[in-house]
Amino acid sequence: ILKVQNLHKTYRSGEHDLNVLNDVSFEVERGETFAIVGPSGSGKTTLLGLCAGLDISNEGNIWLCGENLAELDEDGRARLRNENIGFVFQDFQLLPTLTALENVIVPLELQGIKKAAVHGRELLAKVGLEDRDSHYPSQLSGGEQQRVALARAFANKPSILFADEPTGNLDDETGAKIEKLLFELNKEQGTALVIVTHDLELAQKTDKSIRLRSGKIEESYS
Ligand code: ATP
Repeated sequence: ILKVQNLHKTYRSGEHDLNVLNDVSFEVERGETFAIVGPSGSGKTTLLGLCAGLDISNEGNIWLCGENLAELDEDGRARLRNENIGFVFQDFQLLPTLTALENVIVPLELQGIKKAAVHGRELLAKVGLEDRDSHYPSQLSGGEQQRVALARAFANKPSILFADEPTGNLDDETGAKIEKLLFELNKEQGTALVIVTHDLELAQKTDKSIRLRSGKIEESYS
């Protein structure tokens, strides 16, 4: 479902080129769980953004859901994201002016799906927040916000979900709940998971993982 081949990424900052990813290659199969670990600054978030089509590489190829990202324009990449991809971020990124339910159904409404609210309530129930639908993000705890973000990420039944430190801002117990939900949804819906994490215990629970160091794959585990 995701194939990354000889990927290179350089950021231009002022006079200097900063080489952030160097010849990175790996593959994630349908329904598989995959972790990206490595020290701060090793290029994990950059790699995730490239895989999800949020940014473009300098060299190399990425095939996502059968499409070569380099051959798609911005509209094409946006379509692929809306139809096939879910995201979860460390800082949740809920829209502050929308309620929990409204946040969850944004992707459904984008696709013109009828009965979005009914489906949205089901998703909120799945993450244990059926009684929080009319709360605004500021009225929810961090763990609750992350559960809303997860419900939103799964709303369009994505074939692959990208998660950047999904448990990074949560206490251990809440983090464990989110982790459990991620793996449950992977099992129930067959959604492939690509997770950037500092949590080595979490990484050990995935089918495969890579460790980045200074933009290179230092080790692969499977
Ligand atoms: P962390 O675990 O701290 O989040 P990371 O492994 O996710 O780190 P990245 O966020 O991918 O690392 O950043 C890799 C390197 O690229 C860092 O040195 C960072 O300063 C640099 N970098 C990231 N984004 C940009 C950008 N837009 N422009 C220039 N440099 C950038």
